[in-house]
Amino acid sequence: MKTNFSKEQLKDKDNKSSEKIFRKCVHCGFCNATCPTYQLLGDELDGPRGRIYLIKDMLENNKPANEKIVKHIDRCLSCYSCMTTCPSGVNYMHLIDHGRNHIEKTYKRPFGERLIRNFLSNVLSKSFNFRVIVILVQFVKPFRFFFPKKIKEMIALMPRKFPKKTLPNMEIYRAQKKKKPVARVALLTGCVQKVISPQINEATIRLLNRHNIEVVVSKGIDCCGSLNHHLGKSYLAHKAFKKNISIWYEEYLKNGLDAIISNTSGCGTTLKDYGFIFRSDNNLKIKAKKISELTKDISEYLDENVKLNFIKNKENNKEYKIAYHSACSMQHGQKVHDVPINLIKKTGNQVFDIPDGHICCGSAGTYNLLQNDIAKKLLKNKISNIEKIKPQFITTGNIGCITQIANGTKIPILHTVEIIDWYTGGPKPEVLMKL
Ligand code: SF4
Ligand code: SF4
Repeated sequence: MKTNFSKEQLKDKDNKSSEKIFRKCVHCGFCNATCPTYQLLGDELDGPRGRIYLIKDMLENNKPANEKIVKHIDRCLSCYSCMTTCPSGVNYMHLIDHGRNHIEKTYKRPFGERLIRNFLSNVLSKSFNFRVIVILVQFVKPFRFFFPKKIKEMIALMPRKFPKKTLPNMEIYRAQKKKKPVARVALLTGCVQKVISPQINEATIRLLNRHNIEVVVSKGIDCCGSLNHHLGKSYLAHKAFKKNISIWYEEYLKNGLDAIISNTSGCGTTLKDYGFIFRSDNNLKIKAKKISELTKDISEYLDENVKLNFIKNKENNKEYKIAYHSACSMQHGQKVHDVPINLIKKTGNQVFDIPDGHICCGSAGTYNLLQNDIAKKLLKNKISNIEKIKPQFITTGNIGCITQIANGTKIPILHTVEIIDWYTGGPKPEVLMKL
């Protein structure tokens, strides 16, 4: 794609990077074929190629965003299915991030939208605030019919109660064996995940400790920053990025870290991008690159570093039919697909890919809250594809997908790490108790 940035514009590091990406695009449109919003809406501007043109036009012409551009960019799920399909290696993720930051700087959204986006930014990225809101929402739930549609739907998606925790809050979870641990890893426990599904972090910690690995949950790390990053709120996102980088880097230097484990693929994708985000920051670029290099999805870490000790008992000796939902951030963002499937297969169960598995379930961070109509259609299609397999349960590696899919089906769904924990001596996951 021909570009027309001036020399002055190319002094900006983000313009410079985006220009290189635009030049790779050959307008072929292959990406449209696998874009969920293009498939649903059929509008060129709701596909990756159209959005690339919109972003290029804003950046090259120093053009402020307008209502039309914002509508089409907001409808993008950031699922990165287009990146998997693109034969030219166009990094759409970096373009859409740049486009969203430009929108945030140049466009004043209507009051109601600003209110909702600020609310999500302040509530979801801070686990304390999220807890408080979940409690308050229980009081307004009976009156939700009086609220506007969007708020009503948000209230409906809020959890009813907090699941019980079984592990105490600690900074260091020691390896179970008395001898020296074989590795020491940091775990990102996540802002929303640790509130609504603490069992995922607990399964991860138990599983690692049982395999003689020490787990550090660093104080001061809450959100990975991706929530604000995808809302275009770069100031808040960068504040979280910088804090996380300095805390983990200090831990790495002082006590040693063999890996930083993410068990939420949406967050993992962003952690792996810290190195790119701070590529021009002389104070942070080395540290950020190190943090990205250390980051592993839990499935990757287990596959590459842990000799799993599978234990059969009377609870887990049945053979189940499992549908594996490959989260977009996992398969398209991190290019991790076969690894979790092969791990689950080691438990002796049957694992099936979901038809049209490359298409998003509609969760996509805050997407199901902000673009509820499109998210609902995607969920409906996902559930109908899952039902074709007739699985006994579903598994995936991302809390957002778990919450979204659980809203559309009665088939139990759980995180992949909970299955591996169970088959290596951990307790049977609560969601499977009736099976
Ligand atoms: S990220 Fe997903 S929704 Fe956005 S343009 Fe690419 S394929 Fe379409
Ligand atoms: S598939 Fe790649 S090269 Fe082709 S239009 Fe889409 S982004 Fe451009």
